[in-house]
Amino acid sequence: MLPFAIEVYTAQEKECDMILSEICRRIHGLHISVAEDVWPDGAILICVICGKEKKIDIDECAHYLALGWPKCCSRTMIAKQGST
Ligand SMILES: [Zn+2]
Repeated sequence: MLPFAIEVYTAQEKECDMILSEICRRIHGLHISVAEDVWPDGAILICVICGKEKKIDIDECAHYLALGWPKCCSRTMIAKQGST
């Protein structure tokens, strides 16, 4: 048994990492493209319960598209077109 771990980064593992990085980059680009099409000026999030509003930019729209829309008062907030 070796006293320390030897990590071997094989060519196949390196290629897999490069492919995964490219897939992640393309998926992020997809979310940005959708956000730019749907909310070209950003959006305003609105809570349908308490009325709280929060202005978000395109990057935040893409972020919420990827990871889920934010909630307020235990309900998913709705988005309307933002204004510049
Ligand atoms: Zn609320």
